[in-house]
Order: sequence, then structure tokens, then C-alpha cells
Amino acid sequence: MTDFQPPLRLTLDGEALVSNWRYLKAQGQASCGAAVKANGYGLGAVDVVRRLRDAGCRDFFVAHWGEAAAISHLVTPEWISVLNGITADDIPHIRQIGAIPVLNTPKQIALWRAAGGGRCHVMLDSGINRLGIGSEQFAAPLFEGLDIDILLSHLASADEDSPQNSAQLNLFRQQAKLVKAKRLSLANSAGIMLGRDFHFDLTRPGLALYGGVPRTEMASSIKPVVSLSSRVLQVRTLMAGDAVGYNATHICTSPTKVATISLGYADGYLRSFAGKGKLRADGVSIAIIGRVSMDLVTADVSALVDVGEGDWINVDYDLSRTAELTGLSQYELLTNLGQRFERQWV
Ligand SMILES: *Cc1c(COP(=O)(O)O)cnc(C)c1O
Repeated sequence: MTDFQPPLRLTLDGEALVSNWRYLKAQGQASCGAAVKANGYGLGAVDVVRRLRDAGCRDFFVAHWGEAAAISHLVTPEWISVLNGITADDIPHIRQIGAIPVLNTPKQIALWRAAGGGRCHVMLDSGINRLGIGSEQFAAPLFEGLDIDILLSHLASADEDSPQNSAQLNLFRQQAKLVKAKRLSLANSAGIMLGRDFHFDLTRPGLALYGGVPRTEMASSIKPVVSLSSRVLQVRTLMAGDAVGYNATHICTSPTKVATISLGYADGYLRSFAGKGKLRADGVSIAIIGRVSMDLVTADVSALVDVGEGDWINVDYDLSRTAELTGLSQYELLTNLGQRFERQWV
């Protein structure tokens, strides 16, 4: 560890995180879990899990076994489910961690049986056609003797009003009759807003916990969790005709006060923010100009009277608005956030 303070910071609102979880839970009678894969959608899985655990969350979903191992000291290991399933190489390590595998294919089921079995979950693919046992393979004998806790399926279009939602719901209900599972789980963040029919025993929100808004019904209730700020490294006044940044994509048309900020595509602030991204200081919106570099962006701060080297400046990162602006998804905006940010929970 070094004593250097990183020049860029994520401020993470722990109360907003818990408030979002409580809001999602309060949409029905089901238990509410949490998807904490990809390091808690980029926020930091350890900090997310600790807070949601203390709020009463008992089901945590990760994608990889390494992600399960990273949080297994925080919760009862059986509370952790590993969505991406198992390979033969995983088997020796699974028992040490104690997290529960989601079995996604007949081959994974066979592997699990051969390894001695034990508690597991099963994923039905009800139409996303991505991961899970297809309904054409889904038959009672496949599950004989398995100790299945959760039968899961995942919605493909819950963020839209699509007929696919009720089609998946109906198929899930029908296929669930073939399996002896203790619990059923279908809804992600958006799926929770489709109504209680979609909730079953357990919901699995991710995005909305972290302030994302996949459906407008939740826009006024979900609180932002993540805000970005970064240091001003240099301020200079350029003249009309001066070019800014790689490939001179911005040419000043008048004297322009330009601030260079410690933020770049290596931090997840991708080149798609060029000409679109905004900073915010003293209630003033400030345009990013020129290319986004690896470690730097430049902004036209002519409207700011008082801005100088070393100042902290806010980066506009409202998830819905920024997604619309950049063409990146709210999921990408969160999971792109790089390792150079200091993550400061308040
Ligand atoms: C990521 C994921 C979730 C959470 O989805 P959100 O849209 O982020 O709420 C739930 N279930 C599965 C299987 C997932 O992969």
C-alpha cells in the first residue's frame, strides 16, 4: 500500500444502496437477493456484500468461483450462488469455498453427481438462449436425486414491454413442475417491476441496487449510488485556432480556458464520451472537448471563474442520461469503472 491519494474518486453512497435494496424487496412478498458479480458491478463486492448482508440480504449471486471466494469470508458460504456453473477443474475447490453452483447443462449435472453431489441450483433457459438447460432438454429424470435449492431462469427483455416476458413466465411455471426445487427465482431488477407474478420465492436484482434504472417506473424511487470526481491537473487559456488533444479534433474558435482532468479511457471513461461527456462545478455544466486520452480528458472551463490546479471536479455520470448520451449501457458504465479510482463509501 502507498500513501498516495489517487487523483480520481468514486463516492459510493451506502445508504442509497441499502435503500434501493429495500425498495426492490418491498415490491412484493418474495425474498430479495443481490447480483454482486463483476466485483459488485464495479463498486467493490466486499463493501456491497457487507452492507446488504447487514440489511438482511441472504442470497448473493456471482458469475465466477473466484468471485465467490472473494466474499466467502463475509457471509455463510451457502448464501453465495455461482451463476456460470462448474467445470471439472472447479470441483476440487468448490468444497473448500462452500458456495452453491448453478448447474446450467446436463453435463454439469453429471459432473456434480460424479463429484458426490450436494446442494445445488439449476438454471432453466426459458428463452434467452444464452445459459441454462433448454426446455427441449428439460425432463424430470435429469434431476433425479439432486438436492436442488433454487430453480432459476433469466428474463431476456424485462426492460421492455415485450410479449417475451409472459412467454418466459409461462414456460418457467410449466417446467418448474418437473423439478423438486425448494425455491423458484426469475426476476432481475427490471423483472421485479413486471409485477408479483414474476417474483416467486426470490428475486435477483443487480443494476437497480447500484442506482441503475432499467424501467422508468422505478426512476423516482431508485437512488443514485455512484458519483465520480477527479482532479484538475492543469488550466490554460488557449487562443482561437489552437487545437486540443490527439488528432486535433477540437479547434478553439475563441479564447478558451481549458482544464485537463485526471480521467481517461483506462479508467473506463471511454472514447465514446468525446464531444458528449460533461463535468459539473458550481452548478455549471462543462463540456469535454477533444479526444479522451488514456489518463486525461480536456474540458472547456471558460464559464468557471474559480478553477485551478489541484481542484476536484465532478464528472456527470447520471446512469440513464449518460447511457443515452454515449450509447453505452448502464451496466457498462458501472462495470467499466477502473481500478485507479479511490472507492470511498459514505
Ligand atoms: C446479472 C444477473 C442478474 C441481475 O440482473 P440485473 O439486470 O442487473 O438486475 C440476475 N440474474 C442473472 C442470472 C444474472 O446473470
